[in-house]
Amino acid sequence: MHEYHIVEGVVKQILERAKSSNAKKITSVTLVLGELSGLQEESIRIYFDNLAKKNLLEGAKLIIKPAKSKLKCKDCGVIFEHEKSNFNCPKCSGLGVLTNSGKEFYIDNIEIDS
Ligand SMILES: [Zn+2]
Repeated sequence: MHEYHIVEGVVKQILERAKSSNAKKITSVTLVLGELSGLQEESIRIYFDNLAKKNLLEGAKLIIKPAKSKLKCKDCGVIFEHEKSNFNCPKCSGLGVLTNSGKEFYIDNIEIDS
């Protein structure tokens, strides 16, 4: 139930933000989900639907933006998106190493009716 707690935490943050802006209703929420976060979009949607009841989130649209993982070239330092099984720098063909990006899961935007 690890994922459930993560989604629950995000939903709490969304509700707190909406309350502090005196929202009457939340119309849509955009989340950024890194491909290496270990979370599945499908389960986030299920948990979100479960948690978006009898509160400001009821009926809100959930948009999930995927974030690709990024690599940093060991030779020239360029940061580039990780394409499937390609670890080579687009600039110098050097070897890229994984950075921390791609593991993110955060609230990008909340739209409210006040
Ligand atoms: Zn390079």
